[in-house]
Amino acid sequence: MRRTAVRRRVGRVLQKRAEPAGATTNVRGDIISFGQRMSSSGLSPGKSGNLSVRVDGGMLITPTGIAYHEMRPTDLVEVRFDGRAAAGQRVPSSAWRLHLALYKARADVGAVVHTHSLNATALSCLRRGIPAFHYMVAEFGGDRIACAPYAIYGSAELARNAVKALGPREACLLANHGAVAAGETLRQAYERAAAVEALASQYTRALAIGRPKILSRRAMAQVLEKFKTYGKQAEVKAKS
Ligand SMILES: [Zn+2]
Repeated sequence: MRRTAVRRRVGRVLQKRAEPAGATTNVRGDIISFGQRMSSSGLSPGKSGNLSVRVDGGMLITPTGIAYHEMRPTDLVEVRFDGRAAAGQRVPSSAWRLHLALYKARADVGAVVHTHSLNATALSCLRRGIPAFHYMVAEFGGDRIACAPYAIYGSAELARNAVKALGPREACLLANHGAVAAGETLRQAYERAAAVEALASQYTRALAIGRPKILSRRAMAQVLEKFKTYGKQAEVKAKS
């Protein structure tokens, strides 16, 4: 899509404020409940995937190796922006560098959800992103959902690749791995992770029966323009 359109969109997003310290109890509960939902709905199988929320000075992220339905609020790990975590906490998810890099690169990101959702992962194994086969790709702020080049899980290289693939958009795939979605809130990031999987599912189905027609840049620019008012009921003034 046109870079100017991307900039306008990003520019409209207010910088996400970190959660105040007193709110972290609720934040911890929310992370666990969305993690349980992610697992029980099958969005990310088993213990796979991880979730984080920006907090003052860093982020709160799910721990490694603990099933979501067994996770307690104290199991979540606070990692500071310098990459350090206070002693006495659980070991954070191996994806912590990726999450932290996204918060540092994008001031508007308040939460990150990483999944190994079925169809997004299948596409990532072909090392292909999701092009503008459907206009709803624009919901992620551009004319495609890119796939980050492969790097081993947990590495700083993967974190760098993900930041680049995400760019100003709200989701990307990770080659031979899965998907990442960002949001101002955890709910938004989670819903985007589910929406990426829905698009990936539609795209893989289309690929299975033929060669999908990809919308032009011009067509997607029109959608992106129209999305500026998409779903904003309050802006529609009723005539009296
Ligand atoms: Zn993963």
